[in-house]
Amino acid sequence: MLLEAREITKAFGSFKAVDAASVTLEPGDILGLIGPNGAGKSTFFNCLTGDLQTTSGQVLFEGHDITRATPEARARLGLARTFQVPQTFEGMTVLENVMIGAFLRSSHRAEAESKARAVLARVGMERLADAPARALGTPGRKRLEIARALATEPKVLLLDEAMAGLTLREVQLAIDLVRDIHRSGVTLVIVEHIMEVIMSLASRVMVFHQGREIARGNPREVTSNPAVIAAYLGS
Ligand code: ADP
Ligand code: MG
Repeated sequence: MLLEAREITKAFGSFKAVDAASVTLEPGDILGLIGPNGAGKSTFFNCLTGDLQTTSGQVLFEGHDITRATPEARARLGLARTFQVPQTFEGMTVLENVMIGAFLRSSHRAEAESKARAVLARVGMERLADAPARALGTPGRKRLEIARALATEPKVLLLDEAMAGLTLREVQLAIDLVRDIHRSGVTLVIVEHIMEVIMSLASRVMVFHQGREIARGNPREVTSNPAVIAAYLGS
């Protein structure tokens, strides 16, 4: 097992944003995580990556307990993520933003730069390498997040709404990129509101509602589940 969360709870005061959520991830999985706004998907990601400390529960990566490990230590083990709101360093170039990821594995600037350039080529952004990051629109920022994550050489990549705000054409390109990343051997968890994306990429889906898992299964089963439909309709 690559990644396992056991009964993760994250409380903010008395409010449980994530309530005893568990998941296991096997190498090669593409797990879809869906649920209405506020269901706790991003909070769950933050607990897996260490961006938030869990209130209770355990996180294991390849059998190691990483529940209290820093985000950097988890990244070193091979756990990477993108943020729902892109964390772009505005004053830096696109290349420098990706080098931040590459520096996790190499302390030499030239080496980090050549790796960052290779990643930019892979995501189709090589021509933008020297552009200031602040010049990018939403699609570019979303792709830059993915590039920075890839530069850390992840085994597991968590994508938090990486396709939100993209046009249909851009979504298709992003799906192709995710497939390419998966084929290169990366295991993925994708949070996405666009159901076609989940349908075409995910091998399994879990559904959150009010911090709890309310359904899991293959995409078809889950999207026809009455409890899931009710959650989306707000009942
Ligand atoms: P999702 O990603 O599924 O839309 P989130 O994980 O962002 O949901 O949020 C889940 C719930 O936790 C929401 O009600 C949100 O307002 C709340 N929440 C998230 N972060 C915090 C925080 N830092 N402090 C208090 N409440 C938070
Ligand atoms: Mg979210």
